[in-house]
Amino acid sequence: MGSRVERGPRRHPDFVSLAMLMSRELRSEKMEKPCVKYGCSAQSRKGEDYFLMKTGCHRDSSTSFSVFGIFDGHNGDAAAIYSRDNLLNHVLDAIPHGLNCDEWLQALPRALVAGFVKTDKQFQSKGLTSGTTATFVIVDKWTVTVASVGDSRCILDTPDGVVSVLTVDHRLEENTEERERVTASGGEVGRLNVVGGPEIGPLRCWPGGLCLSRSIGDMDVGEFIVPIPYVKQVKLSNGGGRLIIASDGIWDALSSETAAKSCRGLPAELAARQVVKEALRTRGLKDDTTCIVVDIVPPDNSLPPPPKQQSKLRSLLFRTKFHGGCASKLSKKLSAVCIVEELFEEGSAMLAERLGNTETCGSSTSGLFTCAVCQVDLAASEGISVNAGSIFSTSSKPWQGPFLCVGCREKKDAMEGKRPSGIKVV
Ligand SMILES: [Zn+2]
Repeated sequence: MGSRVERGPRRHPDFVSLAMLMSRELRSEKMEKPCVKYGCSAQSRKGEDYFLMKTGCHRDSSTSFSVFGIFDGHNGDAAAIYSRDNLLNHVLDAIPHGLNCDEWLQALPRALVAGFVKTDKQFQSKGLTSGTTATFVIVDKWTVTVASVGDSRCILDTPDGVVSVLTVDHRLEENTEERERVTASGGEVGRLNVVGGPEIGPLRCWPGGLCLSRSIGDMDVGEFIVPIPYVKQVKLSNGGGRLIIASDGIWDALSSETAAKSCRGLPAELAARQVVKEALRTRGLKDDTTCIVVDIVPPDNSLPPPPKQQSKLRSLLFRTKFHGGCASKLSKKLSAVCIVEELFEEGSAMLAERLGNTETCGSSTSGLFTCAVCQVDLAASEGISVNAGSIFSTSSKPWQGPFLCVGCREKKDAMEGKRPSGIKVV
């Protein structure tokens, strides 16, 4: 008995001090703000690609973040221009005031959903027929949040040489889940069929003939082509990383791996040019081709560190924050080198799932309710809960927020195929 009591305390301090040292070290390293360096390159064929690069956006007096976006338009450029000019404000409007850094980052995925839907709704009210992809990236210290509809991919290249894709390609041809959703909502999916001839080209949605399953705009296509973005939020290690955001002119020519490899070691501006050059060399200028490179690097580094041999520990490198126990300790140790911490991922096309159902949100300081999408104030009697009339009746809580105004509720129904699109119910 006596020896056991002795052994315990002797081991315990050792273990705690090591853990504390590690966490102290991690915390102090994480405190430092990275440098964000960026560059863009574009070759135009149709003139429908637009982009956004904005640093020094202020959240409050002391903290700032950067925003990067690519908008690849189709059937005209109006939707791409409108999204470039308004999406950021629509997202920021949907974030409650007075949040600290962590709360702000936690509120971001939901605000991105609201901002995308609001941008789509407002653009459609202008009656212009065009559509756009939108890949929208917010860099806040070491945390990267990406929201996207369409197929303008964003990839992450970390110093250990691991390339990961932070978006999902919303292409009917490649995305079975999206194909099933569109069909279930009343869309028809098929290939272009010249009368009497063979079917050609990629799978498209009819009416309209769009190859994408999600976009902003596209009033003439059908509302099951939804603007609800796939959202992923990751926290980089203090080794940093490089983002490559580009329109499909790049990705139809280069794999994620090839694009990342082709520009390693070059500063951001040159890297963007190199990726475009590489794509044109492979495929020629068949489409608008736009590439943004963003380097998130430790403050004392002007270039991302040279890549090492690709690690075989790939499966360990992306860890979710829910992993506990030994795995968590191991990856914490690794994170000093190159671990990317996955904070959030959600891709559902159902608005109710994306806006959540907390009791507090939607209640504004004025005592009125606020529409969770367009942020207009609602009288208590006007707001319709996002959960009202859900087919999942057991979990529906019609008295619980978030709330939607009548217009946004109509849009939600149309997106879910509960109402023929383009027809206004009075
Ligand atoms: Zn609304």
